[in-house]
Amino acid sequence: MKKILLIFLIFFALFALFPHTAYSDLDEEQKKLEGYKIELEKIKKAIKDTNINEKTAQVLLNSIYDEIDKITSNTIVIQNKINVINEEITVAENMIQQKTQDILRNEDQIKASINLSYKLTAISPMELLLTGQDPDTINQRIAYLSYISLSSKTILDKTKEERELLAQKKANLIKNKEYLDQFLSEKWKQQEVLKEEIAMQNKLIVTLGTRKIIYTQKKSKIEKEIEKEKALIEKLILEAAEASRVLETGLIWPVKGPITSYFGWRIHPIWGVREFHEGIDIAVPTNTKVLAVASGSVTYAGWMTGYGNVVIIYHGSNISTLYAHLKRFAIKKGDLVAQGQVIAYADSTGWSTGPHLHFGVYLGAKAVNPLNYLSSP
Ligand SMILES: [Zn+2]
Repeated sequence: MKKILLIFLIFFALFALFPHTAYSDLDEEQKKLEGYKIELEKIKKAIKDTNINEKTAQVLLNSIYDEIDKITSNTIVIQNKINVINEEITVAENMIQQKTQDILRNEDQIKASINLSYKLTAISPMELLLTGQDPDTINQRIAYLSYISLSSKTILDKTKEERELLAQKKANLIKNKEYLDQFLSEKWKQQEVLKEEIAMQNKLIVTLGTRKIIYTQKKSKIEKEIEKEKALIEKLILEAAEASRVLETGLIWPVKGPITSYFGWRIHPIWGVREFHEGIDIAVPTNTKVLAVASGSVTYAGWMTGYGNVVIIYHGSNISTLYAHLKRFAIKKGDLVAQGQVIAYADSTGWSTGPHLHFGVYLGAKAVNPLNYLSSP
């Protein structure tokens, strides 16, 4: 039962000591960097595609403008043709009117000739005798009137024929004009469609521009991330190198003093139970300067039940060191510290029987014997 409780306590202690065991891992960061690089390539391609699309839209737009210009000059030509036809129609109408007048005049003349010849034939022979007129002359005059009538009839027929021809011509002109009108309205319709297309292409260009801005922002963001990631990786590599150097040269002592409790199983000085002592206790007076045993970054600086005020430093390569029962801190979480730098002052905070430094070394979450890592005092 006691054993189970102890195991539980140990697990609890480990959990409490390493609330953030996910230290930056070089492999993980390199994977992250590769991911960013792939993302960057994707965005670069998207920007390239957007540029191509933009160019295509611009080329298309220019060709549409050209087409509109062509249609415009085409409509001008057609309009001119229509104007000419209109003039021709007017000319034909005038001529028809003139022909109509000619016809009327000729018809009048025929009517008059017929009337007159009728009147002449109606003159009695007695009257002819009385007036002394020559009947032959009368007959000649009648014959002449009939000639006039006949000639007028010929002219009339010819004029009517000409008027008919003019009417046909006019009808043809109107048909041509109608055809051209239709053609013209088709051209205008085409122009309308092209204008719609221009509006669409312009909208597309605006959309592409906006997209490009977003992509570019995203790109610079990822580029920054890549730079950050590269710097982090560089730092991790340096840290790893530093850690192996640290392990080669050994850790310096955090304080100088007699060891009062060693690493391993012991009876707890306060609770009187068997427990695993995860470090060594070094007796020192209150306010003794506590030094960082190697360079690293501070991952914890605060209170911990039992340990009182605690500092944990990560040295890279999965190695951390823990300093407990401190009075006050000379650093804060996140600080980078150099080997030998003062990080805190010793005391007796937490469960402690007197002023001393509890010092622990961890590989990952596993406590190891500090004396195997510390250089000889
Ligand atoms: Zn201790």
